[in-house]
Amino acid sequence: MIRIAVANQKGGVGKTTTAINLATALAAIGWKVLLADLDPQGNASTGLGVPPSARYRSTYDVVLGHAAIADAVISTKVPLLDLLPATVDLSGAEVELVGLDHRTDRLKRAFDAVASGRWDICLIDCPPSLGLLTVNALVSANQLLVPLQCEFFALEGLSQLLQTVERIRVSFNPSLSILGVALTMFDRRNNLSQAVADDVRACLGGAVFDTVVPRNVRLSEAPSHGLPALIYDLKCPGSEAYIRLAREMLARLQRPVAEQAA
Ligand code: ADP
Ligand code: MG
Repeated sequence: MIRIAVANQKGGVGKTTTAINLATALAAIGWKVLLADLDPQGNASTGLGVPPSARYRSTYDVVLGHAAIADAVISTKVPLLDLLPATVDLSGAEVELVGLDHRTDRLKRAFDAVASGRWDICLIDCPPSLGLLTVNALVSANQLLVPLQCEFFALEGLSQLLQTVERIRVSFNPSLSILGVALTMFDRRNNLSQAVADDVRACLGGAVFDTVVPRNVRLSEAPSHGLPALIYDLKCPGSEAYIRLAREMLARLQRPVAEQAA
């Protein structure tokens, strides 16, 4: 199972929107997809139409070792897309993990226990921090996808994220590669968006996906209907961008490992 952490310690940069819509695009082409919600806010769970009352077991139970992933997942309205939901309990996990053995590789161990072939790919929607939950995601993942908002401080904090990735590579997970950086919430009427996009490309080069996700109100409306934008409005510019991004992501996943230098 390919495991992709969708991470950026900044909040509101499009992690959850990206995770939900890429997961949906992959399910639509026949992949068996798991979306793991690792944010105590549970936005990915809500955005997929799973209310808190339907989240019987959650990533909290998995990370704490009270449940196996296979026993905690629920199916969604999207065929082939399963959800490992999050609840507010997860906000206590950062603190509880500190005192436990294997505090950095609990999620990895839970993934390793999943029967092979159950899912082709898992996207992990990370919380907006570099705490133990995000560390667990990065230790368990083979790929990192970083959504970056086209706003002035976009690059701020990225070096800290990349340093964390480097430390995790050295200490726990040498096979972690950077799949790419996705520019989100691009506003073509705003010169700043273009300037930030140019700046990010100058800085990060080929790591940045060609596809830029536009600011599009349909993307922000979809979660309130409990649906991925790709289903809520397939033809809106945001959905079209996520379909292109999914295509690019697949092409990168199929590259030889040697080229996946970060
Ligand atoms: P994160 O998970 O990084 O906190 P979200 O994906 O939840 O970010 O996005 C933050 C907010 O912005 C949400 O309300 C979401 O619906 C909205 N949003 C995300 N991407 C876009 C976009 N491209 N255009 C318009 N709104 C967006
Ligand atoms: Mg989020």
